[in-house]
Amino acid sequence: MDAASIAEAAADERDRAAALFDALRRDGLDDPGVSRDPYGAGEQRAHATVATAATSLGLEISGDAAANLYMTLPGRDRSAPSIIVGSHLDSVPHGGNFDGAAGVLAGLVAVAALRRLGITLECDLTVMGIRAEESIWFQVSYIGSRGALGTLPDGALEVRRIDTGRTLAEHIADCGGNPDALRSGDRHLDPASLRAYLELHIEQAPSLVEAGKPVAICTGIPGNFRYPDARIEGSNDHVGLPRRFRRDAALAGADFSTALDRLWEEHDAKGIPMACTIGRFHTDPAQHGLTIVPGSFHFSLDVRAYDEAVLADLDARVDAIIAGIEQRRGVRFHRGPKARAAVGPVAPAIRAALTAGAAALGLPVHELGSPASHDAAAFAAVGVPMGMIFVRNANGSHNPHEAMTIDDFLAGTALLTWWLVETAGASVETTAAP
Ligand SMILES: [Zn+2]
Repeated sequence: MDAASIAEAAADERDRAAALFDALRRDGLDDPGVSRDPYGAGEQRAHATVATAATSLGLEISGDAAANLYMTLPGRDRSAPSIIVGSHLDSVPHGGNFDGAAGVLAGLVAVAALRRLGITLECDLTVMGIRAEESIWFQVSYIGSRGALGTLPDGALEVRRIDTGRTLAEHIADCGGNPDALRSGDRHLDPASLRAYLELHIEQAPSLVEAGKPVAICTGIPGNFRYPDARIEGSNDHVGLPRRFRRDAALAGADFSTALDRLWEEHDAKGIPMACTIGRFHTDPAQHGLTIVPGSFHFSLDVRAYDEAVLADLDARVDAIIAGIEQRRGVRFHRGPKARAAVGPVAPAIRAALTAGAAALGLPVHELGSPASHDAAAFAAVGVPMGMIFVRNANGSHNPHEAMTIDDFLAGTALLTWWLVETAGASVETTAAP
């Protein structure tokens, strides 16, 4: 099958793609932007819309204990290791319409293009609508994908959603999942039965806009360590207390943030990619005010890097920074629970194939380390060969202003379809069914 025919088949699915994005936007509308709350009403509506579209494409629909959505196009050999193409259908509160959803719709549009081309794959292709990837809600990463793979961390089912205060287990049960099966470590997906996992995702930084290119091929996904709910304990005191007697938790927080920024600057100067983010950073407004030295300070921390050794070194450096501040300022850091996610390496063969596909399709090739975490990393962590395609998007993500054009989406989807045909294309049917 020549690349031009594949690009044309993907482009011919423009109306279907536009209608599906519109439907998802309407489902999730929560002015400003969209909210598809995981294991809640927003995500449920998105799953229903996508499942209806998959049914109309003739795909087999199934689920698992984590209430993920599987939409399967049967291949010629149904017992052969299968390919998963997917992403997540949840969003942050008041987010954009494309973060996550684009990857699921790309899978459906690729299926429609394969149908249009009359191509049957050697193996099953499953488009996966993954649950609960956005960790802002439960402060646990990759809930849906790790639930499917049996790798949820201990205690994950007991964490509470930040807005409802109800546990993940309760939310999963509400949506037809089975938390008891997840608790006992059951897995729906056996890595040995998977040939590859591919995820298309909008870029969440402006590199592709800057480069003037529609798509990029991912070179790796960063791992991270996180303290979602850390606190510094000092002493509440009168505003007139001399400096030498103070145990000021807010200034300890300030020291911490500038020390981390210096650490990042040092890595930048050496060309070692990493990022650190202090998303929450505040005193307690109920206790603190103009005339009180703050005795407690709250923060969250996310540190990420593309190399496990770099991540381990950063972990040790953060320990040393904290020890120094505690000693200097007479405060105590209570870091609370620590979460981790492993670095997600891209399979070299998939990266090479996608590069060849981009050349065949006449797409300018751009390679990019993912700045963000993605479900693809959970698949890589259990040894499933993984790859990702990023699509140009203006205005970042996790805000209502994400801006991906349908042309760029179709270019990324053409590359995905090309890869499917190249990797697993078995035969062209004599009667194409568009
Ligand atoms: Zn995402």
